Amino acid sequence: MVTEVTRRISILGATGSIGLSTLDVIRRHPDRFSVYALTASTRVEELAMLCREFKPRVAVMADPGAAQTLAGLLSDLPDIQVLSGMEGLCLVASAPEIDTVMAAIVGAAGLLPTLAAVRASKRVLLANKEALVMSGKLFMDAVAEAGAELLPIDSEHNAIFQCMPVDKIRDPAGAGITRILLTASGGPFREHSAEALRSVTPSQACAHPNWSMGQKISVDSATLMNKGLELIEACWLFNTTPERVEVHVHPESIIHSMVEYADGSVLAQLGSPDMRTPIANGLAWPERIDAGVAPVDLFAIGRFHFERPDLVRFPCLRLAAEAFEAGGTAPAVLNAANEVAVAAFLEGNLCFADIPVIIERTLGATAVEPADSFEVIFAKDTEARARAREQIGLLTV
Ligand code: NAD
Ligand code: MG
Repeated sequence: MVTEVTRRISILGATGSIGLSTLDVIRRHPDRFSVYALTASTRVEELAMLCREFKPRVAVMADPGAAQTLAGLLSDLPDIQVLSGMEGLCLVASAPEIDTVMAAIVGAAGLLPTLAAVRASKRVLLANKEALVMSGKLFMDAVAEAGAELLPIDSEHNAIFQCMPVDKIRDPAGAGITRILLTASGGPFREHSAEALRSVTPSQACAHPNWSMGQKISVDSATLMNKGLELIEACWLFNTTPERVEVHVHPESIIHSMVEYADGSVLAQLGSPDMRTPIANGLAWPERIDAGVAPVDLFAIGRFHFERPDLVRFPCLRLAAEAFEAGGTAPAVLNAANEVAVAAFLEGNLCFADIPVIIERTLGATAVEPADSFEVIFAKDTEARARAREQIGLLTV
């Protein structure tokens, strides 16, 4: 296949699980991709090593102190400019030198840089689902207004994207699509009793049976909040409603999601649980390239299983659906409360089973307002974080 373009890329969140998988795909195709910028939060040494290998034009540390350290570590490479803070992140996300941005910062911190990429009409590879969950319609309107090319990297959404006609991504009913079947692994505690969920530890929560991921999304997978965020993500990306999206727990994590058509056909995308597949799909789309992923061995897997999610033991999925229905700022509150609760759990200050309790109480204590502007979203995010911390304090006294 003839390579038509060399893509110039900024990778937001280069030291994370998605960032490193992206660089692994890029490493295999030096003729196709060149790295313009790499960014990280605090992991200076890791970013310095990546800069030595990929020789970006710019490196950004979100933390200003860390940026100074990085500049020192890279003093023998004067061609790499070191920037810091949100300003630096937004600059490299919207630089005229690039055409593609991998949005792989975790959590709300990724919204502004991802939005900067959208507004600069880039190809935006969206891993940072929290950005879309928080700002929903505002985000999709910005994509349409700028004519940005938004490609889903979340494995389920990338699977759905691959199973839909390209010109009907935002009009599934127009393509004869009746339902989206969103698969979920069920996480490491799928078979735990409600009682057992009270005593699980952060390291157990982060030991996902099928996927190797960052800590926050690993906990989200264990609570099923990840599927809740993905339900909202699917509704915005594919312009549909929760009634038309059905979660199927599929513990093998080989079918990454499915699309059901009016004639009874169900199209599925299958593959090994390795994020390099959706990343390569987004980087090269509409072409296909080697992602370094082992072919899936269906004989070794043998059987596929499907279950309905248990919303009693895992209320986060229900809370996410309710927040989407409530609309306005409710999904931003859901996301902020979840980020605070997950951080408290990881620090040993909150029991796993109380994560949904904190989110539900924070949603109950925070008024829903119309999501008219990004300023409103950020104000609600700040308010919800303070309320979630209050609720954690009330639980632990
Ligand atoms: P991770 O924790 O491994 O990496 C996060 C990256 O974001 C790091 O490079 C970190 O330096 C950077 N970062 C963190 N806080 C920041 C801040 N305040 N400012 C700037 N940068 C900051 O996370 P991950 O697993 O790679 O996930 C990244 C995103 O991709 C998340 O939104 C996650 O939901 C999504 N995602 C991940 C996977 C996966 O398999 N890991 C799959 C689907 C979607
Ligand atoms: Mg996913």
